[in-house]
Amino acid sequence: MHRAVYFKNLYGSLKTFDKFVCYKYNSDMVVDFHTHCYKPLLAKKATSLIPVGSPYGPFYDGTADGLIKSMRDSGIDRSVVLNIANSPYSVKAVNDYAIELLSYDNLIPFGSVHPYYADIEGEILRLKEHGIKGLKFHPYYQRCELCDKAAYKAYELGAKHDMIMLFHGGHDLMLKGDNSNPKLLKQIYDDFRGAKLVFAHLGGWDLWDDCFKLLVGKDVYLDTSFAFMFLTKEQINFVLENHDNKKLLFGTDGPWTNSKDELMHTKQLCTPYLEDILYKNAAKLLGL
Ligand SMILES: [Zn+2]
Repeated sequence: MHRAVYFKNLYGSLKTFDKFVCYKYNSDMVVDFHTHCYKPLLAKKATSLIPVGSPYGPFYDGTADGLIKSMRDSGIDRSVVLNIANSPYSVKAVNDYAIELLSYDNLIPFGSVHPYYADIEGEILRLKEHGIKGLKFHPYYQRCELCDKAAYKAYELGAKHDMIMLFHGGHDLMLKGDNSNPKLLKQIYDDFRGAKLVFAHLGGWDLWDDCFKLLVGKDVYLDTSFAFMFLTKEQINFVLENHDNKKLLFGTDGPWTNSKDELMHTKQLCTPYLEDILYKNAAKLLGL
Protein backbone atom coordinates (compact mmCIF):
# COMPACT_ATOMS: atom_id res chain seq x y z
CA MET A 1 0.00 0.00 0.00
CA HIS A 2 1.25 3.48 -0.78
CA ARG A 3 2.55 5.07 2.42
CA ALA A 4 0.30 8.16 2.17
CA VAL A 5 -2.82 5.95 1.76
CA TYR A 6 -1.72 3.78 4.65
CA PHE A 7 -1.37 6.84 6.88
CA LYS A 8 -4.70 8.23 5.73
CA ASN A 9 -6.42 4.96 6.63
CA LEU A 10 -4.91 5.15 10.08
CA TYR A 11 -6.41 8.58 10.75
CA GLY A 12 -9.74 6.82 11.17
CA SER A 13 -8.48 4.87 14.14
CA LEU A 14 -7.48 7.99 16.09
CA LYS A 15 -9.84 8.68 18.97
CA THR A 16 -10.87 12.01 20.39
CA PHE A 17 -9.56 11.96 23.89
CA ASP A 18 -12.52 12.58 26.20
CA LYS A 19 -11.84 14.87 29.08
CA PHE A 20 -12.30 13.02 32.30
CA VAL A 21 -10.33 14.82 34.96
CA CYS A 22 -10.64 13.04 38.29
CA TYR A 23 -7.42 13.81 40.13
CA LYS A 24 -5.16 16.79 40.03
CA TYR A 25 -1.46 16.29 39.37
CA ASN A 26 0.36 18.33 41.95
CA SER A 27 3.99 17.49 41.25
CA ASP A 28 5.98 19.09 38.48
CA MET A 29 8.36 16.29 37.63
CA VAL A 30 7.74 14.35 34.45
CA VAL A 31 9.81 11.60 32.84
CA ASP A 32 9.03 10.62 29.25
CA PHE A 33 10.07 6.98 28.95
CA HIS A 34 9.91 6.71 25.16
CA THR A 35 11.52 9.18 22.78
CA HIS A 36 13.85 9.15 19.81
CA CYS A 37 16.55 11.38 18.44
CA TYR A 38 19.24 10.83 15.85
CA LYS A 39 22.41 12.29 14.43
CA PRO A 40 21.50 15.25 12.18
CA LEU A 41 21.75 13.41 8.85
CA LEU A 42 19.79 10.41 10.07
CA ALA A 43 17.26 12.71 11.76
CA LYS A 44 16.57 14.33 8.41
CA LYS A 45 16.09 10.95 6.77
CA ALA A 46 13.87 9.54 9.54
CA THR A 47 11.59 12.57 9.78
CA SER A 48 11.23 12.89 6.00
CA LEU A 49 9.60 9.44 5.82
CA ILE A 50 6.38 10.82 7.32
CA PRO A 51 4.08 12.44 4.74
CA VAL A 52 3.43 16.17 5.17
CA GLY A 53 0.23 16.79 7.13
CA SER A 54 0.33 13.43 8.89
CA PRO A 55 -1.03 13.40 12.46
CA TYR A 56 2.19 11.63 13.42
CA GLY A 57 4.38 14.66 13.13
CA PRO A 58 7.27 14.84 13.17
CA PHE A 59 6.79 17.23 16.09
CA TYR A 60 10.47 18.13 16.24
CA ASP A 61 13.30 17.75 13.80
CA GLY A 62 14.49 14.41 15.18
CA THR A 63 17.74 15.78 16.64
CA ALA A 64 18.79 15.84 20.31
CA ASP A 65 18.51 19.65 20.38
CA GLY A 66 15.05 19.42 18.84
CA LEU A 67 14.01 16.91 21.49
CA ILE A 68 15.35 19.11 24.31
CA LYS A 69 13.42 22.09 22.97
CA SER A 70 10.26 20.05 22.64
CA MET A 71 10.67 18.81 26.24
CA ARG A 72 11.06 22.38 27.45
CA ASP A 73 7.95 23.50 25.56
CA SER A 74 5.91 20.56 26.88
CA GLY A 75 7.04 20.59 30.52
CA ILE A 76 8.94 17.29 30.43
CA ASP A 77 12.01 17.10 32.68
CA ARG A 78 13.82 13.96 31.58
CA SER A 79 13.49 11.73 28.52
CA VAL A 80 14.60 8.19 27.86
CA VAL A 81 16.02 8.09 24.33
CA LEU A 82 15.65 4.74 22.60
CA ASN A 83 18.36 3.85 20.12
CA ILE A 84 18.19 0.79 17.88
CA ALA A 85 21.03 -1.04 16.14
CA ASN A 86 19.40 -2.23 12.94
CA SER A 87 22.20 -4.66 12.18
CA PRO A 88 25.19 -6.23 13.95
CA TYR A 89 27.39 -3.81 12.01
CA SER A 90 25.78 -0.70 13.47
CA VAL A 91 25.91 -1.75 17.14
CA LYS A 92 29.10 0.11 17.97
CA ALA A 93 28.20 3.35 16.20
CA VAL A 94 24.67 3.38 17.65
CA ASN A 95 26.04 2.89 21.15
CA ASP A 96 28.72 5.53 20.60
CA TYR A 97 25.87 7.92 19.84
CA ALA A 98 23.96 6.77 22.96
CA ILE A 99 27.09 7.45 25.03
CA GLU A 100 27.43 10.88 23.38
CA LEU A 101 23.87 11.72 24.48
CA LEU A 102 24.90 11.30 28.12
CA SER A 103 26.35 14.79 27.87
CA TYR A 104 22.78 16.13 27.93
CA ASP A 105 21.73 16.26 31.59
CA ASN A 106 18.07 15.65 30.88
CA LEU A 107 18.42 12.79 28.39
CA ILE A 108 18.64 9.17 29.51
CA PRO A 109 19.88 7.25 26.47
CA PHE A 110 19.43 3.51 26.14
CA GLY A 111 21.84 1.44 24.10
CA SER A 112 21.19 -1.40 21.73
CA VAL A 113 22.64 -4.80 20.96
CA HIS A 114 21.79 -6.91 17.94
CA PRO A 115 21.15 -10.62 18.63
CA TYR A 116 23.69 -11.53 15.91
CA TYR A 117 26.41 -9.26 17.27
CA ALA A 118 29.54 -11.24 18.16
CA ASP A 119 30.37 -9.73 21.56
CA ILE A 120 27.07 -8.78 23.17
CA GLU A 121 28.38 -9.08 26.70
CA GLY A 122 31.39 -6.87 25.95
CA GLU A 123 29.11 -4.21 24.49
CA ILE A 124 26.72 -4.36 27.46
CA LEU A 125 29.67 -3.93 29.81
CA ARG A 126 30.91 -0.97 27.77
CA LEU A 127 27.46 0.66 28.01
CA LYS A 128 27.27 -0.03 31.75
CA GLU A 129 30.69 1.45 32.33
CA HIS A 130 29.42 4.71 30.85
CA GLY A 131 26.31 4.59 33.00
CA ILE A 132 23.76 3.48 30.40
CA LYS A 133 20.93 1.65 32.08
CA GLY A 134 18.91 0.02 29.37
CA LEU A 135 18.61 -1.60 25.96
CA LYS A 136 15.95 -1.32 23.32
CA PHE A 137 14.87 -4.29 21.19
CA HIS A 138 12.86 -3.83 18.02
CA PRO A 139 12.81 -7.00 15.88
CA TYR A 140 11.15 -5.25 12.89
CA TYR A 141 14.07 -2.89 12.40
CA GLN A 142 16.64 -5.37 13.65
CA ARG A 143 15.26 -7.98 11.23
CA CYS A 144 15.40 -10.82 13.71
CA GLU A 145 13.06 -13.01 15.67
CA LEU A 146 11.90 -11.93 19.11
CA CYS A 147 12.07 -15.35 20.72
CA ASP A 148 14.77 -17.36 18.96
CA LYS A 149 17.96 -18.71 20.49
CA ALA A 150 20.16 -15.75 19.53
CA ALA A 151 17.68 -13.21 20.88
CA TYR A 152 17.27 -15.14 24.11
CA LYS A 153 21.03 -15.15 24.59
CA ALA A 154 21.00 -11.35 24.32
CA TYR A 155 18.17 -11.08 26.88
CA GLU A 156 19.97 -13.46 29.23
CA LEU A 157 23.03 -11.21 29.12
CA GLY A 158 20.91 -8.10 29.53
CA ALA A 159 19.21 -9.62 32.58
CA LYS A 160 22.54 -10.87 33.98
CA HIS A 161 23.86 -7.31 33.92
CA ASP A 162 20.66 -5.84 35.32
CA MET A 163 19.86 -3.80 32.22
CA ILE A 164 16.34 -2.48 31.68
CA MET A 165 15.14 -4.17 28.47
CA LEU A 166 12.52 -2.27 26.52
CA PHE A 167 10.74 -4.10 23.69
CA HIS A 168 8.67 -2.68 20.90
CA GLY A 169 5.14 -4.03 21.27
CA GLY A 170 2.56 -4.67 18.56
CA HIS A 171 2.50 -3.57 14.95
CA ASP A 172 4.67 -0.73 13.70
CA LEU A 173 3.42 2.28 11.81
CA MET A 174 6.30 2.23 9.36
CA LEU A 175 7.11 -1.43 8.82
CA LYS A 176 4.90 -4.40 8.17
CA GLY A 177 5.45 -7.43 10.37
CA ASP A 178 4.16 -9.40 13.28
CA ASN A 179 7.25 -10.49 15.17
CA SER A 180 6.80 -8.40 18.29
CA ASN A 181 3.21 -9.18 19.16
CA PRO A 182 1.64 -9.65 22.64
CA LYS A 183 1.82 -13.46 22.40
CA LEU A 184 5.59 -13.36 21.89
CA LEU A 185 6.03 -10.69 24.57
CA LYS A 186 4.05 -12.85 26.98
CA GLN A 187 6.55 -15.63 26.28
CA ILE A 188 9.42 -13.29 27.17
CA TYR A 189 7.55 -12.26 30.30
CA ASP A 190 7.18 -15.92 31.31
CA ASP A 191 10.79 -16.81 30.52
CA PHE A 192 12.47 -13.75 32.08
CA ARG A 193 10.57 -13.24 35.31
CA GLY A 194 12.49 -10.93 37.59
CA ALA A 195 14.28 -9.10 34.75
CA LYS A 196 13.61 -5.40 34.26
CA LEU A 197 11.23 -5.64 31.29
CA VAL A 198 9.31 -2.79 29.67
CA PHE A 199 6.87 -3.40 26.81
CA ALA A 200 6.33 -0.32 24.67
CA HIS A 201 2.93 0.90 23.45
CA LEU A 202 1.27 -1.09 26.27
CA GLY A 203 2.83 -4.13 24.60
CA GLY A 204 0.56 -4.28 21.60
CA TRP A 205 0.03 -1.33 19.30
CA ASP A 206 -2.81 -2.10 16.91
CA LEU A 207 -3.23 -5.53 18.55
CA TRP A 208 -5.22 -4.24 21.48
CA ASP A 209 -7.39 -7.33 22.12
CA ASP A 210 -4.36 -9.58 22.59
CA CYS A 211 -2.62 -6.86 24.55
CA PHE A 212 -5.54 -6.58 27.01
CA LYS A 213 -5.91 -10.36 27.25
CA LEU A 214 -2.25 -11.33 27.59
CA LEU A 215 -0.28 -8.40 29.03
CA VAL A 216 -2.53 -6.00 30.91
CA GLY A 217 -2.60 -7.18 34.51
CA LYS A 218 0.80 -8.91 34.36
CA ASP A 219 3.69 -7.91 36.60
CA VAL A 220 5.53 -6.02 33.87
CA TYR A 221 6.15 -2.38 32.99
CA LEU A 222 4.08 -1.06 30.07
CA ASP A 223 4.86 2.29 28.49
CA THR A 224 1.93 4.39 27.39
CA SER A 225 3.56 5.85 24.27
CA PHE A 226 1.57 5.96 21.06
CA ALA A 227 -1.23 4.05 22.74
CA PHE A 228 -3.91 6.04 24.56
CA MET A 229 -4.59 8.23 21.52
CA PHE A 230 -5.88 5.11 19.74
CA LEU A 231 -8.05 3.83 22.58
CA THR A 232 -11.56 4.62 23.73
CA LYS A 233 -12.24 5.96 27.22
CA GLU A 234 -13.50 2.48 28.19
CA GLN A 235 -10.34 0.80 26.94
CA ILE A 236 -8.14 3.28 28.81
CA ASN A 237 -10.12 2.71 31.98
CA PHE A 238 -9.76 -1.05 31.47
CA VAL A 239 -5.98 -0.64 31.47
CA LEU A 240 -6.02 1.65 34.51
CA GLU A 241 -8.27 -0.70 36.45
CA ASN A 242 -6.54 -3.94 35.53
CA HIS A 243 -2.86 -3.12 35.39
CA ASP A 244 -0.79 -2.20 38.44
CA ASN A 245 -0.53 1.58 38.05
CA LYS A 246 2.93 1.36 39.61
CA LYS A 247 3.96 -0.49 36.46
CA LEU A 248 2.78 2.09 33.94
CA LEU A 249 5.31 4.50 32.45
CA PHE A 250 4.34 7.69 30.69
CA GLY A 251 5.87 7.87 27.21
CA THR A 252 5.26 9.92 24.08
CA ASP A 253 7.20 8.28 21.23
CA GLY A 254 8.39 11.73 20.12
CA PRO A 255 8.91 12.98 17.49
CA TRP A 256 5.93 10.94 16.23
CA THR A 257 3.45 12.42 18.70
CA ASN A 258 2.90 15.87 20.12
CA SER A 259 4.37 15.55 23.60
CA LYS A 260 2.49 18.58 24.92
CA ASP A 261 -0.85 16.97 23.98
CA GLU A 262 0.25 13.56 25.24
CA LEU A 263 1.17 15.01 28.61
CA MET A 264 -2.04 16.99 28.83
CA HIS A 265 -4.08 13.87 28.03
CA THR A 266 -2.22 11.78 30.57
CA LYS A 267 -2.78 14.40 33.26
CA GLN A 268 -6.51 13.90 32.66
CA LEU A 269 -6.45 10.16 33.33
CA CYS A 270 -8.75 8.85 35.99
CA THR A 271 -6.28 7.37 38.46
CA PRO A 272 -4.91 8.43 41.83
CA TYR A 273 -1.49 7.21 40.60
CA LEU A 274 -0.76 10.04 38.17
CA GLU A 275 2.42 11.04 39.93
CA ASP A 276 3.61 7.44 39.73
CA ILE A 277 2.82 7.11 36.03
CA LEU A 278 4.34 10.47 35.12
CA TYR A 279 7.40 10.33 37.31
CA LYS A 280 7.82 8.01 40.30
CA ASN A 281 7.64 4.66 38.46
CA ALA A 282 10.26 5.76 35.97
CA ALA A 283 12.44 7.32 38.67
CA LYS A 284 12.36 4.06 40.64
CA LEU A 285 13.15 1.88 37.63
CA LEU A 286 15.92 4.19 36.42
CA GLY A 287 17.31 4.77 39.88
CA LEU A 288 17.03 8.56 39.59
ZN1 LIG B 1 9.27 4.50 19.47
